[in-house]
Amino acid sequence: MVQDRITEHLEALVAMRTTGDRPEELHQAVEYVAETLQGLQIHKYEKDGKPSIVVTFQETQIPKVIFVGHLDVVPADDAQFQPRIEGTKLYGRGALDMKGPDAVLLTLFEHLRDQGSQPPIGLMLTTDEESGGEAGVGYLLREAHWRTEFAVIPDGGIGFTLITDGKGVLHLKFHAKGVPTHGSTPWRGVNPIDQLLELYHHLKARVPQEPCGDPEHWHRTVNLGKLCGGDAPNRVPEEAEMFLDFRFPAPYTPEEIWAEVREVLARYPGITVEELARGEPVHTDLDHPYLQLFRQAAEEVLARPVKLGKEHGATDGRFFAELGIPVIVIYPIGDDIHGKNEWVDLPSLKTLYRIFEGFVQRLES
Ligand SMILES: [Zn+2]
Repeated sequence: MVQDRITEHLEALVAMRTTGDRPEELHQAVEYVAETLQGLQIHKYEKDGKPSIVVTFQETQIPKVIFVGHLDVVPADDAQFQPRIEGTKLYGRGALDMKGPDAVLLTLFEHLRDQGSQPPIGLMLTTDEESGGEAGVGYLLREAHWRTEFAVIPDGGIGFTLITDGKGVLHLKFHAKGVPTHGSTPWRGVNPIDQLLELYHHLKARVPQEPCGDPEHWHRTVNLGKLCGGDAPNRVPEEAEMFLDFRFPAPYTPEEIWAEVREVLARYPGITVEELARGEPVHTDLDHPYLQLFRQAAEEVLARPVKLGKEHGATDGRFFAELGIPVIVIYPIGDDIHGKNEWVDLPSLKTLYRIFEGFVQRLES
């Protein structure tokens, strides 16, 4: 029964083309959730055209635990919006990331409602995770003032690895003004691309160089993702731009990275900088009582010790981390997220359901 219901929700959700550029489908997905969970406390929101929904059993804006998911997906071919089951696998866009886990949560909340339970938990589903999360979880925490003691985000890791740490992120755009001149007389000008590259190498020298010897690479990194400027080989350009992506584990903060950048930047008066995005690193203490309850539930269902892990990419967890709220991230079995053959293992969704169910039971007892 549980398995069938999860599959039913998953097929319905995959068939909705919920890419960021389709507001109608985003609303359709949120309405689907509201209808499925009618009878519970339903709170709907919209920010910058992105709808979201928070569902609780009790009248509160501070449930003890919030389960967090997103209903939006990245673009895909038409065929990927027609869910296809082969053996135990369901193929389709969002099967793993993360309509599979969404379907698990919908089924769980439905079941608890039908039982007449009133657990101290909430479900937060947003529609802009793939485009940054600012109008989704960012908005719900910062402006709609939702709070919790603990967030569970089934949107990362692999095959039930329990993720307790995530790196923070800072995206900066640098702009350099040069003094243009002919390429045959570069000493007469100032080359802004040279300036940016020099700055980049100074910043890069501050992070560990590869090979670093740490198999987890749990250290700071910086990536030069975009560099533009100039128009011809025989001209010193007038201006140039450089985009850097800094990643860092706790206890580093975005402010500390900024402070380093400013210090190095002091040597380059022609360069200005602008922040494009930031996120706090996630670090959840292994001794946290809810983490322990979750681990017990997972180990009982999996009948093996839970593997702990760290995640390099940012999740919506960063918005909770910003408020000091502990976060864990876990995934069922599947693969090829954002790829052409994204799939999820259907029995593993039931396993995820059992883990969540066991966790909620433990929270209540
Ligand atoms: Zn490394």
